[in-house]
Amino acid sequence: MTWKTRALMATGGAALVGLAGLGLAASRCEAVGHPTVPSALGTPSSGAALEALVDQPGPLEVETVVSANWVVDRSKIINLEHPAAIAAGLEDGDEPIQVYFHVLRHPTRGTFLIDTGVERALKNDPAHAAFHGFIASYMHMEKMDVVHPLGDWLQEHNVRLDGVFFTHLHLDHVTGLPDVPLGTPLYAGPSEAHHRGFLNVFSRSGLDASFDGRPPLNEWTFAPGPDGRFAGVLDVFGDGSLFALYVPGHTAGSTAYLARTIEGPVLFTGDTASTVWGWEHSVEPGTFTADHVQDADAMARLHRLADEHPKIDVRLGHQALPR
Ligand SMILES: [Zn+2]
Repeated sequence: MTWKTRALMATGGAALVGLAGLGLAASRCEAVGHPTVPSALGTPSSGAALEALVDQPGPLEVETVVSANWVVDRSKIINLEHPAAIAAGLEDGDEPIQVYFHVLRHPTRGTFLIDTGVERALKNDPAHAAFHGFIASYMHMEKMDVVHPLGDWLQEHNVRLDGVFFTHLHLDHVTGLPDVPLGTPLYAGPSEAHHRGFLNVFSRSGLDASFDGRPPLNEWTFAPGPDGRFAGVLDVFGDGSLFALYVPGHTAGSTAYLARTIEGPVLFTGDTASTVWGWEHSVEPGTFTADHVQDADAMARLHRLADEHPKIDVRLGHQALPR
């Protein structure tokens, strides 16, 4: 039986499960029930400190890997009700996207990921993937073409992971977590795990399964910067090589990362800005976004940073800008 057939069969039972899900949704739901602790990694910094360093090459090496090609509804990842989207005549329909993981190599601290791509089971054994059944059919995961599962990449490169930095905990950023070794430290923004939201009803069981048996999730502890450039800035390793930028809006704990690499600065926006059209027209993502006003403000702050420092290589949540 193909995955597609399985997904179609699952859709048959989706109505019943969907009704149950809507009942649960009335109470709203945390993203994941996993415990959290304040992160011991990361020292408070500021937008000014970041900008003083950003154009100088740093010690990191970065590799972005396309883990899967996928197709989602445009309305989910571009706010089609935004005046700019209406003026451009954008309509709902299939939007091609990519699911990434980004590998950061630090000369002394080790190898880290930003987000996780997708797990091997989504290619080889989708019925046993962390996200399967109703959630897989709801998310149209049958439209996903798995290119490079995280587990395959880790095996090919014989890499020991020293940590995973999440931009946020939507399922398409956690789908590779089952391939991450169990003891690996995990990091995400404040309130990201336990913020309550309607969409979490559908993804909660898959997230719980993905986090099961792992150490508590480390939450970044941001303090508002004196210059107000971002809601908070952390110097992750304390050496100015990697900064975590607090950009709440798409989700409560959304976090972008600025890496100073040997080839120049690289900005990972997460889904604060997920599409090329959205970034180029300053239109925030669509119905997957928790707070549109906040997300648009956060994207404007990232845009300003990139505009004022044109050496920055911007890597969006789900599409690649032309180089
Ligand atoms: Zn996403």
